[in-house]
Amino acid sequence: MNRLFHSESKAEGACGTASGALFAEAKTLIPGGVNSPVRAFRSVNRPPLFIQSADGAYMTDADGNRYIDYVCSWGPAILGHNHPVVREAVCKAAQSGLSFGAATEAEVVMARLLTSLVPALEMVRMVNSGTEATMSALRVARGFTGRDKIVKFAGCYHGHSDALLVKAGSGLLSEARPDSAGVSAACARDTLVARYNDLDSVSRLFERHKGEIAAVIVEPVAANMGVVLPAEGFLVGLRSLCTAAGALLIFDEVITGFRLGLGGAQDLFGIAPDLSCFGKIIGGGMPVGAYGGRRAIMEMVSPAGPVYQAGTLSGNPVAMAAGIAQLGFLRDHPEIYPALEKTADALFTGLAEIAQQKGAHCVINKIGSIGSLFWTDEPVFDLDSAMKADTARYAAYFNFMLEQGIYQAPAQFEAMFISAAHTQIEIDKTLTACASGAFCP
Ligand SMILES: *Cc1c(COP(=O)(O)O)cnc(C)c1O
Repeated sequence: MNRLFHSESKAEGACGTASGALFAEAKTLIPGGVNSPVRAFRSVNRPPLFIQSADGAYMTDADGNRYIDYVCSWGPAILGHNHPVVREAVCKAAQSGLSFGAATEAEVVMARLLTSLVPALEMVRMVNSGTEATMSALRVARGFTGRDKIVKFAGCYHGHSDALLVKAGSGLLSEARPDSAGVSAACARDTLVARYNDLDSVSRLFERHKGEIAAVIVEPVAANMGVVLPAEGFLVGLRSLCTAAGALLIFDEVITGFRLGLGGAQDLFGIAPDLSCFGKIIGGGMPVGAYGGRRAIMEMVSPAGPVYQAGTLSGNPVAMAAGIAQLGFLRDHPEIYPALEKTADALFTGLAEIAQQKGAHCVINKIGSIGSLFWTDEPVFDLDSAMKADTARYAAYFNFMLEQGIYQAPAQFEAMFISAAHTQIEIDKTLTACASGAFCP
């Protein structure tokens, strides 16, 4: 049997495993057996792993198999899994009670940390997920501008709120269509979809909808169609288009925040968005999100202003302790960022060289400690070019690597994440595993 398709036999045999047994029961209790779709491994044609524990750069599944993990909980585990500083902060906070439904000092400490590190953040509101952060930021943008329409980019993901779960209509300039059952056409109608890295597509929307657009929301580095970098001038161009039109620019930094550096993408590219959204890393592994920005805009938020937004568990003391510990550690060890980038470079350059030696066509998009390997030979700069990637090849590659103990994103159009716990040892193991596989048809 071709080693590439070895995974099929594993998939059949998975019935006899602890992960297989858990998945069988999970499917009867939880839709699709998972609490978030990507975990079901459908894009890579194999049953999912159930994870028992994780430490540093490694995860261990319910069958005791150990993997080098390049998902890192989709970003939060930037220091590696189970980092002692974060774990101890959580245990300590838990001793004092899990939730009060009242204001705490930890929330002030967190807000001070975030606003001191992120350039365009003057005020910030804590929420419980990235989805809540983007959904709330849009409401504030609408409240502040008195306008209804928003612009998003095809291929950018901002969580699962109705207005953002849309796709481009038949023509790029047409209104968006729901991208999920259950999203009403009315909800999709106020969302306009532009092309990533295409400023013209944005200025045409501004022309067509003069005075109607409240905000443009963008991943300053797209990481949910695989990693796609902003072209030279793209973010600056968005900034000027928004300013000229009186619309707000919202950076969704749920992945890039504290990933591309302490100041996020806005610091790296030197652009000041009006509002920014955070999640993932800022919770240190706990469910945390945040949105914030210019004071005059954030003072619109209830109870200071008329835009309602609330949360029973927002600013939860245990979650704040985890986030404060992780962000504080990053702030006190800024040398982590160049080290992360060096590790990521070694990994991605190594993978690209191996693919080239094997005569396989692949494109690597990377920045800082995130990156994607697309199985295509054309540059990937937007959703259409990303969609040219060979997803069957990715599934074969993923399955082969998993068999070798390397856990990567279980879908072509997701980013890979490197943590501070990944060392040259893990990179070497990964490259050796990759070199032992056959990725050509
Ligand atoms: C993950 C993600 C979100 C949604 O965050 P959740 O915590 O999963 O709700 C929003 N925006 C971006 C860019 C993301 O990657």
